[in-house]
Amino acid sequence: MGKFVQTVLSGAAQLEREMIVERVKNKIATSKEQGLWMGGTLPLGYDVKDKELIINEKEAKTVKHIFERYMELKSMAALARELNSQGYRTKARFDIFKKATVRRIITNPIYVGKIRHYEKQYEGKHEAIIEEEKWKKAQELIRNQPYRKAKYEEALLKGIIKCKSCNANMTLMYAKKENKRYRYYVCNNHLRGKGCESINRTVIAGEVEKEVMKRAEHLYKNWQEKAEEWKNLSFRKQKEAMKKLIKGVTVKEDGIVVSSESGEIFIPMGLKKESKQMHSSRTRGENK
Ligand SMILES: [Zn+2]
Repeated sequence: MGKFVQTVLSGAAQLEREMIVERVKNKIATSKEQGLWMGGTLPLGYDVKDKELIINEKEAKTVKHIFERYMELKSMAALARELNSQGYRTKARFDIFKKATVRRIITNPIYVGKIRHYEKQYEGKHEAIIEEEKWKKAQELIRNQPYRKAKYEEALLKGIIKCKSCNANMTLMYAKKENKRYRYYVCNNHLRGKGCESINRTVIAGEVEKEVMKRAEHLYKNWQEKAEEWKNLSFRKQKEAMKKLIKGVTVKEDGIVVSSESGEIFIPMGLKKESKQMHSSRTRGENK
């Protein structure tokens, strides 16, 4: 086939594809204007029957609980953690809640009986789960959250820090108390609501990171290829060196075990307990 013919043909095919997409889009828009559910990820709290959403009582309870607790905790990340530790799971694939999952729920107008189509909203045929007043208050709360610059705070020990009791990896999490942010490493088993025996399933990140960096500095001094003094290295270089030198960090009850090529070393630490808020929510979860 000549190149010109080929181009024209593929152009025609492209146009046809676009027209089909457009037709489908219009059909969906029309159906949504009529308040019908046109597919996509089914929201927590509803099931679908003949293109209409019907309330799933058990899930609707969870949705109400989520709105309730969000107004109290005022933090989606903290709420996600609380939900997970209390055994709540999402609708899709029975997954754990993430901050984004909670956000999608709280900002979804479906819960006040509306159907969203891009920026437009239509009155749905379905029953609301949340009273309009309460929903509006939640949206207000989101808007009024103190502005936080989305800066990249990395998990320095990601992939190397483990919970001694479970041998599971630990994940960096944030908590907010009196407008101060705290960073924690949390045992993944605990995070998934599987239960972890360790009293240090939640440890303040800064303290552990500080000890590990100190250990890295020590190892670096004995490192033959070292060219420069540790203190003259940029933080980025120090991090790189740490990742090369430290093979693993295991969080025990009374300290951490740091392993490197030169063996394991135990660093005793009086690891601080988690914040009161996290603790109280967890206790409630266990009583359930
Ligand atoms: Zn654990």
